[in-house]
Amino acid sequence: MTVVHDVPKQLYIGGRWQDAESGRTLSVDNPATGEELCQVADASPADGRRAAEAAVAAQAAWAATPPRVRSEILRRAYDIIIARTEDLALLMTLEMGKPLTEARAEVAYAAEFFRWFSEEAVRIDGGLTTAPDGKNRLLVTRQPVGPCLLITPWNFPLAMGTRKIGPAIAAGCTMVLKPAPQTPLSSLALAGILTEAGLPEGVLNIVTTTDAAGVVEPLLRGGQIRKLSFTGSTQVGRILLAQCADTVIRTSMELGGNAPLIVFDDADLDVAVEGTMVAKMRNMGESCCAANRIYVHTSVAEEFATRLATRMAALKVGPGTEPGIDVGPLIDIAGRAKAHDVVRDAVKRGATVLTGGELPEGPGCFYPPTVLTGVSADSAIIDTEVFGPVAAILTFDDEDEAVAAANDTEFGLAAYLFTQNLDRALRVSERLESGMIGLNTGLVSNPAAPFGGVKQSGLGREGGRVGIEEFLEYKYIAVPVGA
Ligand code: NAP
Repeated sequence: MTVVHDVPKQLYIGGRWQDAESGRTLSVDNPATGEELCQVADASPADGRRAAEAAVAAQAAWAATPPRVRSEILRRAYDIIIARTEDLALLMTLEMGKPLTEARAEVAYAAEFFRWFSEEAVRIDGGLTTAPDGKNRLLVTRQPVGPCLLITPWNFPLAMGTRKIGPAIAAGCTMVLKPAPQTPLSSLALAGILTEAGLPEGVLNIVTTTDAAGVVEPLLRGGQIRKLSFTGSTQVGRILLAQCADTVIRTSMELGGNAPLIVFDDADLDVAVEGTMVAKMRNMGESCCAANRIYVHTSVAEEFATRLATRMAALKVGPGTEPGIDVGPLIDIAGRAKAHDVVRDAVKRGATVLTGGELPEGPGCFYPPTVLTGVSADSAIIDTEVFGPVAAILTFDDEDEAVAAANDTEFGLAAYLFTQNLDRALRVSERLESGMIGLNTGLVSNPAAPFGGVKQSGLGREGGRVGIEEFLEYKYIAVPVGA
């Protein structure tokens, strides 16, 4: 596998590829086979400190770099990523499992963050206004927040990195990136591409590690990191927020979801089934925006469930590298066990399995597309982020009931609704407690849109016009003006 062979397997610190100080390595496995793909460096806290020092050392010069230079580095990196789509997609499929067609789509999505923020880098503005008493001029300018720590999950190995690295580069911040240990190769490939595109040494440092807590906590308590941008579970987000509180570090938290999807009786059922397939099955259901609870009006529930089950049963499950595969393996055996456990719990509480629901034989972490109807509201699946190809269908009789059920969660990342009634579409969109709404669509991710959640799904937004703001501080300069 030359794409794996070609990726550096070391830490990237201060512009130099290097082994972990301890010489330790971690294993990267292919979830489709369970076999090891390669070993990469396994950083210790000492390596983490060196990476942070490299970011700190590079900060002042990087902040002084002309915005146009930062913009052009991002644009060149965008071009390189697009030119290497096939290699990057294959790399992602091998380390994470998603089918090649989805991996190609992620490459395009990930690259777009670089193109978008290359355009934002040269549009950072300030202002000069007159104070109300007329005596002062108020000069407001923007500065990079400083060295950042970026922590990413395994489910979108390339895009979760570019969604943070893009705005950090555009704003003039240096950074340490800690990718998930299951999928370090995409991030290491990205470091190579950014270096080729002209990123100066020390601006991006990468530490791959199996000791996330041991490496990260000293950095957050060390006083040099000024910003944490984290994507991952709410559970880990809470721990990191507490650590950031002690040294008052700015945070962006993209956390877990438990997305409701509502199908009203006036929905176009073709559109609703198609949208549900996307909202449920993108990335095998391993997405923070995945539809986790599907509420369907009683009058159309049976027809909707039958159509959805037919579509789900027709999906081809197998290794993502093979042609025609729709559903790859889940990330690991624990991920698959979690999906199966919630299915068994739902069935125990009275749910009917229309398709799927059985653990397959053989190697790999595969789980079949599964549709459950008659799911009772006290089933674990209702408040567990399933992260798997399991569609749980519940019914409702009126709008208030649907909205109340949808909002009955600590999460508030994405929600979906299907209706042809414009009044209802706007009314329900406003009532749903969620950062993003898919209205007659199952896809909300877009680099030009502000991505993020409310309630315990997070703080801040990534992408869109506001994405760069997360990496900028305001500076106000009071200018007295003589009579
Ligand atoms: P996770 O367990 O929270 O891990 C996320 C990252 O945090 C990994 O790199 C992980 O490394 C690291 N980490 C774990 N414990 C840590 C600690 N104590 N200190 C510092 N770093 C720590 O989440 P995951 O299982 O990888 O990803 C799935 C979750 O991410 C889901 O909840 C999903 O909804 C969420 N997600 C949210 C978004 C969004 O935009 N809102 C996007 C994608 C995913 P280790 O694996 O080594 O622990």
